[in-house]
Amino acid sequence: WMTGSKDGTHILVIPYQAPGHMLPLLDLTHQLAKRGLTITVLVTPKILPQLQPLLSVHPSIQTLVIPFPPHPTIPDGVEDMKELPVFMVPELLTAMSEFYNPVLRWFQANPSPPVAILTDFFHSTWSQSLASHLGIRRIGFAPINSGGLIETWCNLGRVTEEYLPESMAHSIVANVRSWGFILSSFTELESENLEQLRKMMGHDRVWAVGPLLPIEHSKVGLNERGGSSSVPANEVLAWLDSCRAEKSVVFVGFGSQISLTKPQMEALATALEESSVRFIWSVKSPMQGLKETNGDGEVPEGFEDRVGGRGLVIRGWAPQVAILKHRAVGIYLTHCGWNSALEGLLNEVFLLVWPMQADHFVNAKLLVDQLGAAIRVCDGMSSVPDSVKLAHALAESVTGNASEKAEALKLRERALNATKEGGSSALALDDLVKELST
Ligand code: UDP
Repeated sequence: WMTGSKDGTHILVIPYQAPGHMLPLLDLTHQLAKRGLTITVLVTPKILPQLQPLLSVHPSIQTLVIPFPPHPTIPDGVEDMKELPVFMVPELLTAMSEFYNPVLRWFQANPSPPVAILTDFFHSTWSQSLASHLGIRRIGFAPINSGGLIETWCNLGRVTEEYLPESMAHSIVANVRSWGFILSSFTELESENLEQLRKMMGHDRVWAVGPLLPIEHSKVGLNERGGSSSVPANEVLAWLDSCRAEKSVVFVGFGSQISLTKPQMEALATALEESSVRFIWSVKSPMQGLKETNGDGEVPEGFEDRVGGRGLVIRGWAPQVAILKHRAVGIYLTHCGWNSALEGLLNEVFLLVWPMQADHFVNAKLLVDQLGAAIRVCDGMSSVPDSVKLAHALAESVTGNASEKAEALKLRERALNATKEGGSSALALDDLVKELST
């Protein structure tokens, strides 16, 4: 393929430093570099190593490394939502909006500055002002589907002005006003929603380019995706290799932000114990020092001894895509974050969903209620699952032949077709690059 040539249109990519946002934006950057754009990616020093897979495939991609702007409530050395509780999203955004001046100075000093800024949609306000100041185009990227985006915009729009934080209102307005918008979705999945979005934005420059396939590092494959695993990835994969039956292992994980409460941990542990399934449980503890723990996020005492070799607990960062890709894994009990849902689907791993917050509910509605391609096993951030029912659902998901499994396979086919040459998402990427180059 073509790599970003010196003559290619130059763009600046600005991620929001949270795994669920940054990973798909880097996967998108990979697609754009393949299509000949010249690209600079803005990151802070601690995040730079996470660009390794992208930079190893595209050595021509430049980085603009700017020190993380200090913020009174963000501990020194923390530069990533991975290390912060979810309620601190506004703080991280405020800190990162301080990029305005250093980025402006960088543009002014650059002999061949970018002609467009591609930013995560969370960074809309300051980057939209910067783009208009510089007289260049800004494109927003949302790592969700258009149903999720419309719901977020409409919900916030419905809240009376008194309750709608001003910053949030500004952020939506800036996104609606952006020159273009990219979503991690595909036309065959939700053409009506995409049309509605185009109407809301008043133009057609809305591109559905998903699912975005993960970049594989030439040496480490997917093992280092989003950072190094807290249990060496090779050990995790060796454990999976020892599971002989195909598609028999359940992966349990709730993304990068969610840690379960004590009662939820207990109910889930009991269900895993009672179900007799083989499993990998990826556990996130509440972000240290920033939140009272009260036993939240703790695996019940003796659990690992009781399940013995039948299960593996990973505390911290898990090599999620490498796990989902393994032939032994067949089921994923997920929070239904859009990236995770797509990763399960693409790897023929059947989704048992427990939506928690944000767009998870819209995703669950789409996959479970509208498409019949997944099963809902619990609902809501504060719900505690019934461990008997959950144990049954887990056991059944491995052995059973639910009609949803067949629907999930059909959906996977449609998703993959969209990414192939001539598919809707591949064509959307071509069109995006063409529009940017004119
Ligand atoms: N992820 C991972 N290891 C972890 C947790 C998450 O690799 O231990 C990745 C996961 O594969 C996905 C992203 O982080 O690509 C999480 O995005 P998602 O939209 O599913 O959920 P969020 O974390 O934003 O709630």
